[in-house]
Amino acid sequence: MVPLRFIGALLGGAILASAVANHAVAETVNVYSYRQPFLIEPMLDAFTKKTGIEVKVVFAKNGVIERLKAEGVNSPADVLLTVDIGRLNDAIESDVVQPVKSAVLAARIPASFRDPDNRWFGLTSRARIIYASKDRVKPGEITSYEQLADPMWKGRICTRGGKHVYNVALFAAMIAHHGEAKAEAWLRGVKANLARKPQGNDRAQVKAIHEGECDLAIGNNYYYGNMLDTAEQKPWADSVNLVFPTIGGGKGTHVNLAGVALAKAAPNRANGIKLMEFLAGDEAQSLYAERNYEYPVNPAVAWSKKVESWGHFIPDDLSLAAIAELRGDAIRMVDRVDYDG
Ligand code: FE
Repeated sequence: MVPLRFIGALLGGAILASAVANHAVAETVNVYSYRQPFLIEPMLDAFTKKTGIEVKVVFAKNGVIERLKAEGVNSPADVLLTVDIGRLNDAIESDVVQPVKSAVLAARIPASFRDPDNRWFGLTSRARIIYASKDRVKPGEITSYEQLADPMWKGRICTRGGKHVYNVALFAAMIAHHGEAKAEAWLRGVKANLARKPQGNDRAQVKAIHEGECDLAIGNNYYYGNMLDTAEQKPWADSVNLVFPTIGGGKGTHVNLAGVALAKAAPNRANGIKLMEFLAGDEAQSLYAERNYEYPVNPAVAWSKKVESWGHFIPDDLSLAAIAELRGDAIRMVDRVDYDG
């Protein structure tokens, strides 16, 4: 059951209903979320318990930024929760968020996981890893993203579309580490190794490994946990090993984030900041990361034991802000290489 708090729901691309009050109410905070209710509910409950501030959530799979834009100064939204640096960047470019100066956020979130201008803050990180067939790829046979372009993998790699935000960020990180010319040669190499035209979501690539269509796939780490939790997908997860690849010649694994921003018109600004600070704190960080098999950004908070059992790694320390800046270049590179063609 979706709790009553989730008063806005989105089906088929349109926000059906929202009972969010269109004016500030004392001790309330309004959240627009791309994150699913079940992922964020435990943290929001804990926040309300601690502060007495009621949290109202509008959940949508698409269109949140467009909605904020359309509502303008009359928007009831205080806080925007979303995944991927690409979406946070879109929020900034659409001018629907405002900076937050908070010593608490600065202390809890490492600089590489927050905007230098304080307009967005990471809450959890996720690794974009390589899923490798247990049967057809030996442990240690691939250890870096760069090796995905090696001709030994010809016809053996599956990925989703090159312009999906997750891939755009990875390709932008490759540009940051190698420069555009080398990154482009790499992407051409990866394309030449694809077993099929890019299609489907991250989990569909692991399914394709299970079915023998390919031997390697690129996907976010938390889908491993999601697949293990889903009876029909468990065999897909059971058919692969997880590889946490290095980037840029031995640097850490490429990570992205789920993050938060304060809405530009925020009628309950102080409560919004309180919620953001709470989400970066110990209690929420461990709940949040555990719930979706992600990693806390707050270095004082331990990884979930379960998630850690799937592999420990060092994240690439390239800042997400640097990745955001190269997203446009990465998208143009995908076009030049005709990655999806
Ligand atoms: Fe995802």
